[in-house]
Amino acid sequence: MTEDKETKRRRFANYRTATKLVRGGTERSRFNETSEAIFMNSGFVYDSAEQAAGRFKGENEGYIYSRYANPTISMFEERMILLEGAEAARGTASGMAAVNAALLSQVKTGDHVVAPKALFGSCLYIIENILPRFGVNITLINGTDLDQWKAAITKKTTCVFFETPSNPALDIVDIAAVSELAHKVGAKVIVDNVFATPILQKPLELGADIVVYSATKHIDGQGRCLGGVVLGSEEFVEETLSPFLKHTGPALSPFNAWNMLKGLETLELRVERQCDNAEKIAAFLGDHPSVKSVRYPGRDDHPQAALARQQMARGSTLISFEVDGGQERTFSVLNRLSLIDISNNLGDAKSLITHPSTTTHSSVDDETKAELGISDSLLRISIGLEDVDDLIEDLGYALSKQTA
Ligand SMILES: *Cc1c(COP(=O)(O)O)cnc(C)c1O
Repeated sequence: MTEDKETKRRRFANYRTATKLVRGGTERSRFNETSEAIFMNSGFVYDSAEQAAGRFKGENEGYIYSRYANPTISMFEERMILLEGAEAARGTASGMAAVNAALLSQVKTGDHVVAPKALFGSCLYIIENILPRFGVNITLINGTDLDQWKAAITKKTTCVFFETPSNPALDIVDIAAVSELAHKVGAKVIVDNVFATPILQKPLELGADIVVYSATKHIDGQGRCLGGVVLGSEEFVEETLSPFLKHTGPALSPFNAWNMLKGLETLELRVERQCDNAEKIAAFLGDHPSVKSVRYPGRDDHPQAALARQQMARGSTLISFEVDGGQERTFSVLNRLSLIDISNNLGDAKSLITHPSTTTHSSVDDETKAELGISDSLLRISIGLEDVDDLIEDLGYALSKQTA
């Protein structure tokens, strides 16, 4: 007899992370393939008219249409549920589709949303530009300051949204404390956990209600495709999120879901290695005479080092640092790199570096840039899987003063 879904989930919930990542959610077809199959199909057929009618009524289990659900996508969702310790999840076409659905599926006119200004650009766009068009009131704050959260969250607040560590300055938001404040007024807490990854930080265990990922980043981790996922309670996912996704259609491709499944198998290994590399590179940058400052949540000189240690297992795979000099000198450092690529992506096997002020945050006004610590000399580096000594040599050469 085949094991039912609930029994299987309970059995897998007892396994440790590495085991969940390799085997969680796998469903074999009648061919008994070892690796998960790609069900690259849009529709499904029924044995009879009665079965079709029953499936639409929800009376018998099975797939209807890949915009609603698909076996490869279901395997990815189940693996993420086990990893995150959530009750339910839905895959989406991209990280932004996940963020958009997590917010728009639940807010309505008159609601109030609180978020830090230090957000991924497109998340800020949804909150600052889209929500107010539908009569949702918003308050943007400094997410590192609990007093600002206290002042901003009122009885009208229905939702708070934040990322931690934030992009690009790697600020830390206190997940447990903000969740407590939000829950006092019955507001839901959504955490964009992309920078921390599911390996380093578990927002649901710290009190958050909903977690969103751009699976494009560390989960795929090899620069192949876009994807996203929203995780939360059975009630939120089934009653609020799923109907929204089903009828608005930002569905994950089964092929991309398969890439994500394969990415998850090596996620822990990759993130641990990237953190090993990042710790050494942060130390190297910290000692370098051409580096003015380093921001790394795993370093004692991070302004919220204690909080970072409390809610994250390690210091992250990203580092921000300021070159001692202006934009011209900073650009010359970028242009003298020969191994590390100039790219705004992150979480990849390849180390990638970007100048946030002129790329990811170029549309942010100067005043806000100053508030968020996005100076002309700030660089954000996403540490990859290369040999750390090669990365350090590349950075060392790029940072060395050019002798005419
Ligand atoms: C990349 C990213 C997103 C958006 O994800 P896409 O897959 O590019 O749509 C959202 N939040 C954060 C923090 C990100 O880094």
